[in-house]
Amino acid sequence: MKDDRTDKLRQIRDEIWNLSKSPLYEYRIANKYHPVLGQGSHYAKIVMIGEAPGTQEAESGYPFVGQAGKILDRLFESIDLKREDVYLTNIVKDRPPDNRNPKPEEIEIYGPYLLRQINIIKPKIIVTLGKFPMEFITKAYKFPGQMKKISQSHGQIFQAIAGYGGVLVVPLYHPAVAAYNPAMYKVLQQDFKTLKRL
Ligand code: URA
Repeated sequence: MKDDRTDKLRQIRDEIWNLSKSPLYEYRIANKYHPVLGQGSHYAKIVMIGEAPGTQEAESGYPFVGQAGKILDRLFESIDLKREDVYLTNIVKDRPPDNRNPKPEEIEIYGPYLLRQINIIKPKIIVTLGKFPMEFITKAYKFPGQMKKISQSHGQIFQAIAGYGGVLVVPLYHPAVAAYNPAMYKVLQQDFKTLKRL
């Protein structure tokens, strides 16, 4: 049965295209960048949330196509998970200049769009990549258990109550940490095995 997920996600896309109140809007237009909404199945059981698009993502309009994306692809392959079976997105949908961290006011503007996307897709598992999405989801949802710092909670499974019901949240390190650090790649690879188990 066809439902209206695609229409609802398109509606969000259109709103973000016209989000002129965002502090990143002018920068997007001046550089002919695209906003990056997300990519993958609208029926995905897993939604993965990164921080914000980098240059290659903003140029193409697709998430995780640069260096961090290549690492993510290796991690997917390591557990036989197909990228297209996951819905990949970010909290902040426009590229912050100089690959700096997203600012609180940017997270505040774009965060509600992410929550709407999640409510439409209704995943069983939410994977946060890095500190910013982990903190955002921790604040947005009810967690019966307590989420600690990423260094303590990475790779663990937390039960949470999302807008549409119960969901499992798995915080992971951001794949970019493994770019120059093979030890961190091993940690990520180990944590991906948790996803495989789920
Ligand atoms: N890093 C992110 O957090 N998101 C992307 O889409 C690319 C790199």
